[in-house]
Amino acid sequence: MTGFSQFNFKGKKALIRVDYNVPLNDKLEITDDTRMRASIPTIQKILKDGGSVILMSHLGRPKDGPTDKYSLKHLLKHLSDLLGGIPVLFADDCIGEQARLTAGMLKPGEVLLLENLRFYKEEEKGDEGFAKKLAQLGDVYVNDAFGTAHRAHASTAVIAKFFPGDKKMFGLLMESEVKSAEKVLHQAGRPFVAIIGGAKVSDKMLILENLFEKATDIIIGGGMAYTFMKAEGGNIGSSLCEVDRIQTAIDLLNKAAAKGVCIHLPSDSIIADKFDAQAQTSTSPSNNIPDGWMGLDIGPNACEQFANVIKRSKTILWNGPMGVFEMENFRHGTKFIALAAVEATKHGAFSLVGGGDSVSAVNMFGLADKVSFVSTGGGAMLEYFEGKELPGIAAITQES
Ligand code: AMP
Repeated sequence: MTGFSQFNFKGKKALIRVDYNVPLNDKLEITDDTRMRASIPTIQKILKDGGSVILMSHLGRPKDGPTDKYSLKHLLKHLSDLLGGIPVLFADDCIGEQARLTAGMLKPGEVLLLENLRFYKEEEKGDEGFAKKLAQLGDVYVNDAFGTAHRAHASTAVIAKFFPGDKKMFGLLMESEVKSAEKVLHQAGRPFVAIIGGAKVSDKMLILENLFEKATDIIIGGGMAYTFMKAEGGNIGSSLCEVDRIQTAIDLLNKAAAKGVCIHLPSDSIIADKFDAQAQTSTSPSNNIPDGWMGLDIGPNACEQFANVIKRSKTILWNGPMGVFEMENFRHGTKFIALAAVEATKHGAFSLVGGGDSVSAVNMFGLADKVSFVSTGGGAMLEYFEGKELPGIAAITQES
């Protein structure tokens, strides 16, 4: 596999798969440009070398071909601003004559953005013919879209087969995502704590099982903790509970015990009389929540209990909030855990935060630059830690 930083792009047309699936408001203005900003160092390195750049991405989930609200043309002006004001060319079709001609005439230092890949159904189907047409636009293929690395789509995986081994590579963002994830999965300093939260046990079962092979401690918080509490015979009132996963929770607890992994459940909870920002609240042991009340955050003892585990750890992987952090009354637990991860990082731990909601939480608290790495890929990150091979990674790393 070719290293991006060592490669000289002089005179080359680099075809980069970026993840510009950014949120737009009703006026088609970008409301969060994190993904676009994350792609800039890769683009700049290529331009600085004397190469040119062809960017391809999806945006949203267009159902029936070209649709104005999913057009990548709405990103052009902002992309140009992020690149220091250089003009960005646009092809209103990602394949076809216009794309071919514009790409063909691209001069060193120029940037071309292609229209939304998902205007073609062939993209998500991983169609080879479509991938080949995209491949013909560039000399070198660069995958910098970790957010879609778990998809075997035409532009994220299939396309790689049309480039020889020395002409396909990860971009800087993808490189750092893969490096951070590998560090946690394969070179983790111990103790290694995985903090798993969020709403559903069913979403996190596979990651838990895979982490039993790696982690020394697993903290379970958020709504999913109550299915475990119930599995242990606790009263959880009307807290979130997946009744059909109670046996799964029992099996997971048994497996963890057999592997010698210490599972930490929240000893107490902030409870509410309804799922509402204005609800009445109280504190209760998590295994004895009164009827009609629900646990919406971890309690003060659980905060201390979890923070102690986090602060003595050398590796921290965090996926999923500890409570309904979107509401101010139920945000404290998630913030407390974030601060503990920051503290541990200050003392030399490696901390990786991933998954949409934990990332939103650290951003909300202004702590994103105080942990070691914040992943841009929600689903991709989850699948990576479930132990699955990601097609977007395999397509680059496997020898052709
Ligand atoms: P996930 O997408 O599975 O990571 O879940 C994230 C969602 O779980 C967030 O929207 C949280 O508000 C929600 N959540 C966290 N804790 C609880 C809880 N105790 N009860 C209900 N929902 C929760």
